[in-house]
Amino acid sequence: MHPAPVDLALFDRQHLWHPYTSMTEPMPVHWVESARGVRLTLQDGRELIDGVSSWWTAIHGYSHPVLTAALCAQAEKMAHVMFGGLTHEPAVELGRLLVELTPAGLDKVFFSDSGSVAVEVALKMALQYQQARGLPEKHRLLTVRGGYHGDTFHAMSVCDPVAGMHSLFRRILPQQFFVPRPQSRFADHWQPEELAEISDLLAQHHAEIAAIIIEPICQGAGGMWFYHPQYLRELRQLCTRYDVLLIFDEIATGFGRTGKMFAAEHSDGISPDLLCLGKALTGGCLTLAATLCTESVAQTISQGEPGVFMHGPTFMANPLACAVAIASIKLLLHSNWQEKIAAIAQQLRQELEPARSLGDKVADVRVLGAIGVIEMRQPVDLAALQHFFVEQGVWLRPFGRLIYLMPPYIISSNDLTQLTSAAVKAAQLQLVSNKSLSRARTWQLP
Ligand SMILES: *Cc1c(COP(=O)(O)O)cnc(C)c1O
Repeated sequence: MHPAPVDLALFDRQHLWHPYTSMTEPMPVHWVESARGVRLTLQDGRELIDGVSSWWTAIHGYSHPVLTAALCAQAEKMAHVMFGGLTHEPAVELGRLLVELTPAGLDKVFFSDSGSVAVEVALKMALQYQQARGLPEKHRLLTVRGGYHGDTFHAMSVCDPVAGMHSLFRRILPQQFFVPRPQSRFADHWQPEELAEISDLLAQHHAEIAAIIIEPICQGAGGMWFYHPQYLRELRQLCTRYDVLLIFDEIATGFGRTGKMFAAEHSDGISPDLLCLGKALTGGCLTLAATLCTESVAQTISQGEPGVFMHGPTFMANPLACAVAIASIKLLLHSNWQEKIAAIAQQLRQELEPARSLGDKVADVRVLGAIGVIEMRQPVDLAALQHFFVEQGVWLRPFGRLIYLMPPYIISSNDLTQLTSAAVKAAQLQLVSNKSLSRARTWQLP
């Protein structure tokens, strides 16, 4: 016999951690029965239009028949085999797709199971690369403020030092170099003096620096900030000049979200030395991530000591995850995703614009691709806003001072209007966080 749902909800409250929550004062959670298209169906029968694609993953919406079919077909053949000493078609086919689609020169693929691990792998590759070249003193990292790269230890060390967990883990986090976040806005004037500080820092410290890691064009969970494509072009030149590897973290931006397949393409023609992918890779069905690197990085690591790259997750290249990732990427490629995202962008611009007139409450409104942001002047009260949004029949999950939308690409214009009007209303209400202001500020991750 099934226990009554009320008991299950109580069990959840008493025993299950949710992301960034307290076990003594847990945030309210809603019970999802099923999800289809852009809608989540709650246990009490209510439907919510999802405006965050389950943390930016479900680009085709939920329960897409093509993705479900790919999962089922693969499950019939094999759910998993180890990747040590064995290989399989889903891994090879996905690898080929990624090598083909990603910026030029990224030829070697390392599969892992989450974004944070893909970042750890990239950082470890950078360190092993410098070690292999006989430059072990090049072991520190350089990044910009306002970044987010994951919750594992080395990834945390390159997250924004104020919003991230630096003070909490001060004693164990490696000390990295930080420069201000890029200032020139995406579609605004380029300010050439932007790179003066990073340039000086590299001139002085390049002998200690293994790599620069950055989210190209769009900083995600660190503040939803869109910056000028010229920044990346100049950064690429600086990295080459100072013999420092360049890592692009496209875990949030990859697979069309910013209007290009990869955000780096806004700065046409540049390639990083390493690239991290995750989130939308499987269309939101299973956890999977990948780190790609150049021939030169791979060769150098493999020819140095100990002659291998020292990493190997148990569930590396899980066949189910690879199969659904292939199906998701093909679905994307065979859709009119560019038009769809351009239409979403235009509608977001139009419908979020009224929030700008709330100048005393709203600091900024910005849109890039299928990402819409209302930046408030004060941190929002997440619990109050979550309640408000569910009442409005939408699912949005603000953080810090940001009310943002990242809907599935398949969303209809009417459904998108419901999301934008709820977001603008929420900005009007200005449910500001007071009681746990400091906590909200520290944990301003999504
Ligand atoms: C979400 C995210 C990560 C971490 O991915 P997880 O799968 O949550 O470990 C890393 N970098 C960026 C840019 C992200 O958005």
